[in-house]
Amino acid sequence: MPNTAYGGVWGSIKSKSYHLASCRYVKKTGKNNRIKFDSAVTARDAGYKPCEVCRPPAPKLSATKSPKNGLTVLPDTTVP
Ligand SMILES: [Zn+2]
Repeated sequence: MPNTAYGGVWGSIKSKSYHLASCRYVKKTGKNNRIKFDSAVTARDAGYKPCEVCRPPAPKLSATKSPKNGLTVLPDTTVP
């Protein structure tokens, strides 16, 4: 068994959350309802949230800054 501390994580498509491989929820999630991510960063970028039970790594957003930082990454004014 590989060490999964900072390795891949499992995402539950239904609940949009991701888990450590050892989490009991992974086992409860059906094969067709889970997705393997290379890392917690990948899961985060896909819009998944860390499980509050197994507490997988929860990387902070780095690629896209909050508008409160004064940095506007994407223009939000394209909608008429
Ligand atoms: Zn979990």
